[in-house]
Amino acid sequence: MSVGVLALQGDFREHAVVLRNLGAEVELIRRPEELARISGLVIPGGESSVMDKLARAFGLAEPLAGAVRSGLPVYGTCAGLIMLADTVIDGIQGQQTIGGFDIAVRRNAFGSQTLSFETDLDVPVLGEPLVHAVFIRAPVVESVGPRTRALATLPDGRCVAVEQGNLLGTSFHPEITGEHRFHAYFLQKVAAAGYRR
Ligand code: GLN
Repeated sequence: MSVGVLALQGDFREHAVVLRNLGAEVELIRRPEELARISGLVIPGGESSVMDKLARAFGLAEPLAGAVRSGLPVYGTCAGLIMLADTVIDGIQGQQTIGGFDIAVRRNAFGSQTLSFETDLDVPVLGEPLVHAVFIRAPVVESVGPRTRALATLPDGRCVAVEQGNLLGTSFHPEITGEHRFHAYFLQKVAAAGYRR
């Protein structure tokens, strides 16, 4: 089973380390033809508007959207979650997404880089202990469709982790805190889906 990490921009190396530590075979994905080899994909944090431009320039945007539609399991963190959202509030002009997640996200919902923060989050599907979550110019999920399940909310009620079928998304960055449970949870989805193109 090989899992891809979209490696156009952002913290793809950190995701690759976590996935390899969990025993997955990892492929860094930069070209459309590389999608044929993977049964799951992680889209890292970074800057969604730049990732979007690069995905289109590399001819990856359409094939990625098609793969999501055909059931490829995908886990997006922060900018990666934005890339998966059907609707982006406060996107830069012309910003597009791969889509698939029936959610609306608000980019930079907590303000600028200096307002980045860390907190401990209850994520019932992961059990104990609490997840130490790092938010860096993070989005929030402002609304979810009927097929989408909220997995974690901040004390003020804002949703920061979601799941919908084979899709998983977090506003924060487990890959930089030694938190492996989201990736393990995702790898279970990948194994259960048995996706082949
Ligand atoms: N604010 C960034 C964006 O809009 C996301 C930041 C992140 O991935 N840490 O893409």
